[in-house]
Amino acid sequence: MQAELLSVGTELLLGETLDTNAAYLAEKLSELGISVYHKTTVGDNAERLVAALRISLARADVVLATGGLGPTDDDITAAAIAQVAGVNLVEDEATAEKIRSFARQASFAHQHGSGLLDKLLKQARVPQRAEVIPNPIGTAPGFILTCDSKAVIALPGVPAEMKAMAEQTVLPYLARRAAPEGSAVIVSRVLRLAGIGESQTEAEIADLVQTQTNPTIAPLARTHEVHLRITARAADPAAAEEMIAPVEAEIRRRLGDHVYGVDGEALEAVVGRMLRQAGLTLAVAESCTGGLIGHRLTNVPGSSDYFLGSLVTYSNEAKVAVLKVPADTIQQHGAVSAETARAMAEGVREVCGADLGISVTGIAGPTGGTPTKPVGLTYVGLAGAGETAAEEHRLRGNRSMVKERAAQTALYLVYRTLRDRKPAEVAK
Ligand code: ATP
Ligand code: MG
Repeated sequence: MQAELLSVGTELLLGETLDTNAAYLAEKLSELGISVYHKTTVGDNAERLVAALRISLARADVVLATGGLGPTDDDITAAAIAQVAGVNLVEDEATAEKIRSFARQASFAHQHGSGLLDKLLKQARVPQRAEVIPNPIGTAPGFILTCDSKAVIALPGVPAEMKAMAEQTVLPYLARRAAPEGSAVIVSRVLRLAGIGESQTEAEIADLVQTQTNPTIAPLARTHEVHLRITARAADPAAAEEMIAPVEAEIRRRLGDHVYGVDGEALEAVVGRMLRQAGLTLAVAESCTGGLIGHRLTNVPGSSDYFLGSLVTYSNEAKVAVLKVPADTIQQHGAVSAETARAMAEGVREVCGADLGISVTGIAGPTGGTPTKPVGLTYVGLAGAGETAAEEHRLRGNRSMVKERAAQTALYLVYRTLRDRKPAEVAK
């Protein structure tokens, strides 16, 4: 099955709004094994929208349009789709009632007068025969209109509404539509890898990627890590799992050292789980990451169980005053050095009274690099009960990428330490 994406909105053509809707839908469609060969962006212009719809419908089985479903005059997607399908717009009663009851709320008339109700009711007008897609968080509904063997799906432009409706209604609908007979379900598992780049990952499993058709293996490079998605089609979930298992086992045999987790669980969550299980606490000393590690650790609910704090010591003076890094160490070796990273990790462990202290110091760029200490040079340190370690890394990318990769490198060091050591070896 082939699908096309049609993003509607002049703001997208002006570069004011980034087309995250199409990116989101493209990713979801690829997870469902639905091919997308074209994405189109068109402004709020009836003639061009109708033309774009005709072209997409001629090529694909399903066209997914987002945007232009709102109450204002420039919202013309429903009318354009009706025109292309040769049907009228009719009022969907349930939606109209939902809008009226929303307008009956006392504050509404007070704030907007009665003119707005008519405008909002325009959103209830959908092409005849269309199946309405409820909007759980807004007033504009979406719809699915099938004509002949094809379908046009319209969703609002607001990303949160679009996503909610896609997840609730559209993706399950497409999954049913896409599944060939005897392969009613599609199951995916994402293996998450750290400490290895995309090209090396691909090189290690190139033969598997090339020969596998079901399950398929898709590498995805993120800024700071690599994901491998294994997707199987089968008659039922258990059969799909059985097909995924040997492929996963083979990938883990080759790359297992780097596979820190699966699916939606980020490295900070895995590290948090390991700390809690081991009954250990963690404190962080950050320089070039500017608090990013603390931010990621505290994104995990319940992190107060094991995360004591992150001290952002950006200047040399702060490293000396707050973390008790010896001024000599900085003078002799520089702020970006293994020695300073070690002293920062030991310092924050001491100051916060944690079992584990970790540290990052590096040159995020674009300025500040020298021939011996280039941009991207980063040291991560880890202090436990018995010993303190530091690692040197040469991270690539612009300033924000170096920061993200530095934070990941530090968290990965904690991960490996907790994986390879007994809690008693690191506890205070
Ligand atoms: P509404 O009911 O809110 O009027 P709508 O369907 O008319 O929804 P638009 O008016 O086109 O949607 O867009 C609403 C908001 O969503 C705007 O802030 C717009 O920038 C944003 N938006 C629209 N299309 C996209 C897109 N493809 N990707 C990301 N954001 C988008
Ligand atoms: Mg718009």
